[in-house]
Amino acid sequence: APGLYVAATPIGNLGDVTKRLADTLAAADEVLCEDTRISGRLMQALGITAKLRPYHDHNGPQVRPGILAALKDGARIALISDAGTPLISDPGYKLVAEAREQGIQVYTVPGPCAAIAALSIAGVPTDRFSFLGFAPAKQGARQSLLREVMMREETLVFYETGPRLSKMLRDVTEVMGDRPVLIARELTKLHEEVVPGTAASLADIYESQPPKGEIVVVLPPAAAPQPTEEDIDRLMEEALKTLSLKDASEE
Ligand code: SAM
Repeated sequence: APGLYVAATPIGNLGDVTKRLADTLAAADEVLCEDTRISGRLMQALGITAKLRPYHDHNGPQVRPGILAALKDGARIALISDAGTPLISDPGYKLVAEAREQGIQVYTVPGPCAAIAALSIAGVPTDRFSFLGFAPAKQGARQSLLREVMMREETLVFYETGPRLSKMLRDVTEVMGDRPVLIARELTKLHEEVVPGTAASLADIYESQPPKGEIVVVLPPAAAPQPTEEDIDRLMEEALKTLSLKDASEE
């Protein structure tokens, strides 16, 4: 059927290509991608000759009207990203929004997503989580984001790059204290690993040796807020007062 097919591609392991992804790419009149070289390699591996066209944040405003016109004319167009699920820390939301506004069918061809893959093997509560994408590159903005989310009683998930990882973990330590953290690295690839630790200990490790490859940072929920000493003193005083009132009334 004509429409826009938002299709997930592998995050490293070509074995994760779904049948629907292959069918969708083979049947598409055009495949929008971030980098034609990267997606060209995927097409080659799948033995598919597709018309690849770059679509990213820079050329989006110029090329969107033409893409939407083709979709209105009944084209089948696929949107993929370099890896994983489009729109998840990747371009495409304006295209999807405008397509839907114009009554064009938008279909999902779901598949790998690094954040979800990391959560599925981290062994932390996932009934609620916040996906925060890439934390800001500037320390001030990064720390204020961490301050904003630190009290959430749910798992926090970030994308991060190897060179920046230790700085990000230092900021976690500074803002939130030395909390448990898991690093999920190179998922679905040869050197896939999940490294548990704490923010400070992992910062030490990765500062001396920045990790290679692609990284998801998982912070399990903060423990429920503990009462402070003042809270406890106040509660004791209140308890004592009711006790002495009781004593007095019994006399
Ligand atoms: N749309 C993609 C998805 O669905 O996961 C994410 C795109 S974002 C530009 C790229 C980031 O995702 C990487 O910097 C890394 O943080 C994370 N990532 C992608 N592939 C990964 C993998 N195989 N292992 C760990 N993290 C990965």
